[in-house]
Amino acid sequence: MSKAILRIDDSPSEMTPEFIDYLEKKQITPVIFALGENIEKYFDNAVYALKKGAVIGNHSYSHPNFSELSFEQAVEEIEHCEKLLDKLYAYANVERKYKLFAFPYGDKGGNNKDKLQQYFKANGFARINDSAIDFEWYKERKLNVDMDSYWTFDFGEYMLQSIDDPSLDDIFKKVHSEEQKENGALLQKGSTHVIMIHDHPQTNRLIPDYYKTLIDYVTDNGVKFIKPEFVF
Ligand SMILES: [Zn+2]
Repeated sequence: MSKAILRIDDSPSEMTPEFIDYLEKKQITPVIFALGENIEKYFDNAVYALKKGAVIGNHSYSHPNFSELSFEQAVEEIEHCEKLLDKLYAYANVERKYKLFAFPYGDKGGNNKDKLQQYFKANGFARINDSAIDFEWYKERKLNVDMDSYWTFDFGEYMLQSIDDPSLDDIFKKVHSEEQKENGALLQKGSTHVIMIHDHPQTNRLIPDYYKTLIDYVTDNGVKFIKPEFVF
């Protein structure tokens, strides 16, 4: 058996409420990394997720590659989304205990990486508590000390959009891979993970209920989802 925190990126969307209802049935508490522009479009769906107990963090306003931005532009992307998150929590009347950030594409900002890490520290950001993650590659990349939140296992289901005959078979294969660095070794006995999935209606149009199928598949294969905790 392995343990995992579920991370949902690029929310909210038109399908967030049904996604959240499904997770509630499975008793899974997700960490959602929301885009500011999607909070503007689907504000009520984000409120719904918050009221159902999801934790919502910042995934930037418009999903840029941070290594292509100046430091000032990067901060603008982060703070634009922060303002919307503050508004969202206040409207939902849910206390915002933690400010969390996850970089789009895991792109930590290139030359501005150190400055951005200092920015997170100076501005009270917290991160997913990943102290139980024990992979060498994860520590080598300092993912266990950086102030943004990262992942160990990526379903990669967003790739299906660029494939001619999309199916989940390759993802099922990846779930069983023992290769840690590339594929995440999700089922390695005693391991702990952050699993990333996306809130993408465009994927759901290709493969209806993809998120249910994928999450059911990993739980059926021995992954136990745990409640996320956070550290400063
Ligand atoms: Zn994203």
